Amino acid sequence: MIERSLVLIKPDAMERGLTGEIINRIEEEGLTLVAIKMLHMDLALAERHYAPHKDKPFFKSLTSYISSTPILAAIFEGEGAVNLIRKIMGATDPAKAAKGTIRGDLGIDIEHNSVHGSDSVETAKQEINLFFKKEEVFNLQ
Ligand code: UDP
Ligand code: MG
Repeated sequence: MIERSLVLIKPDAMERGLTGEIINRIEEEGLTLVAIKMLHMDLALAERHYAPHKDKPFFKSLTSYISSTPILAAIFEGEGAVNLIRKIMGATDPAKAAKGTIRGDLGIDIEHNSVHGSDSVETAKQEINLFFKKEEVFNLQ
C-alpha cells in the first residue's frame, strides 16, 4: 500500500543541524518527500498533536520542548511508509534504539529523540491535516 506519514524534525535535531541527514536517511530507503515546511509550533498545536499523551507525566515537558524552537514538518510517501519510517527512526528511547536508526545514532534521550513519525495510517491522516493544507502537498500520481 502506498501510504503517507508525517515526520517532524524535533528541536534537538534542528539545533544540531541534522535536517539534511535525517531527510537523506528517509529518502535513501525509497520514500519520497511530498511536503515540507519550517514552523514554530505554538503550545496549542503541540497539545493537539500530542493529545493522545495528555494524561502522561511527560506531557507538559514534551509540549513545551516541541514548541521551544522552529521545527521541520514533512510528509513522506511510498510503499508502507508508516511502518518503514518507524523502522528507520528506531525505538522511542535512543538508549534502546538500534545502531543505524535515526534515534539510535542521533537521539539524545527519551524526550529529545530527534524525530516524530506517525504510528498508523489513520493517525498519519489526522496529523497531516494538522500541519498541511491540500495544496501544499505534491501529488505524485
Ligand atoms: N516521550 C517522553 N518521555 C517518555 C516517552 C515519550 O518525553 O517517557 C516523548 C518522546 O519525545 C516521544 C514522544 O513523547 O517521541 C511521544 O511518545 P510516544 O510513546 O508516542 O513515542 P514515539 O511514537 O515518538 O516513538
Ligand atoms: Mg507516538
